Amino acid sequence: MNIVLLESLGVSEELLHECAKPFLDAGHTFTAYEKNTDPAVQIERAKDADVIMIANMPLSGEVIRACNHLKYIDVAFTGVDHVDLAAAKEKSIAVSNAAGYSTQAVAELSIGMMLSLLRNIPQVDARCREGKTKDGLVGSELGSKTVGIVGTGAIGLRTAQLLKAFGCRVLAYAPHEKEAAKGLVEYVSLETLLRESDIVSLHCPLNDSSRHMINAERIAMMKPTAILINVARGPVVDSEALADALNSGKLAGAGIDVFETEPPLDPNHPLLHAKNTLVTPHVAFASTQSMEARAHIVFDNIRAWMDGNQKNIIL
Ligand code: NAD
Repeated sequence: MNIVLLESLGVSEELLHECAKPFLDAGHTFTAYEKNTDPAVQIERAKDADVIMIANMPLSGEVIRACNHLKYIDVAFTGVDHVDLAAAKEKSIAVSNAAGYSTQAVAELSIGMMLSLLRNIPQVDARCREGKTKDGLVGSELGSKTVGIVGTGAIGLRTAQLLKAFGCRVLAYAPHEKEAAKGLVEYVSLETLLRESDIVSLHCPLNDSSRHMINAERIAMMKPTAILINVARGPVVDSEALADALNSGKLAGAGIDVFETEPPLDPNHPLLHAKNTLVTPHVAFASTQSMEARAHIVFDNIRAWMDGNQKNIIL
């Protein structure tokens, strides 16, 4: 089989070679490229591929349809909303993701954003460098807060566990209640979660039920002292409505890792100009540990798929 990696997995050459070696030894080919978003270049590189591996680079229907040998798309990411799944389905191409590789990394960034916003870390850092004091910047404790988790999958539940260790009351909203969440979160309606939480942290996938779930009407249900954390997907939130609420004092702060498009962002993006907003360029998943874990997961996915036991099934 021809295995083609269309963008870096963010690990060392040694680890990449170690993961690919069993496939090379078994007579398969493995070719790794650096990311190129031009569909014509992608097609040229992948036209003979049986297996395409990508991370978060969008994979269009145009590319999928042009690769006539393609049988398996192995996505080194949790969300797969950047892959044209309809085109893959139409061509009976199997798709897997790297579920779970970044659970701890994302949960930790979400907590990090909460702590940073509550303790004004960027602002007090600036004060200290300017030779000033904390005057007017006394923080608030995470342990005293009610935190609402939207989406109780792997990341939502890990975040809930970490919040419990801080002493928080943890509410949750999800379409299906999880057995594993018993004793950890109190399931409530989305409206109750928004009305009662001091911090709302989003951990759902982007799908038809979650697109613009956090819109002007729902933001208006939140406390004016509340903080919103989005480490899920940008379009789950209406950015214009959120920026308006932050700038008009209807919401106290936000921590945003994900946007409508992948960074680099348009410098006029409303959330880059919103008050008390911490922004990161889609980094929640990115830790040394998660990058190594996902390399092992995606090569293991190929092994399992070749053996007829596909894992981490999306399609
Ligand atoms: P998961 O599949 O384990 O959990 C997702 C949960 O969300 C499921 O339990 C599902 O029932 C629930 N859900 C679906 N639609 C919902 C809705 N409308 N409202 C509330 N809950 C809903 O996935 P996970 O590993 O926990 O990851 C969750 C999401 O986090 C991913 O889909 C991805 O978009 C995002 N993510 C972001 C980063 C990052 O770097 N920022 C990294 C990994 C994952």
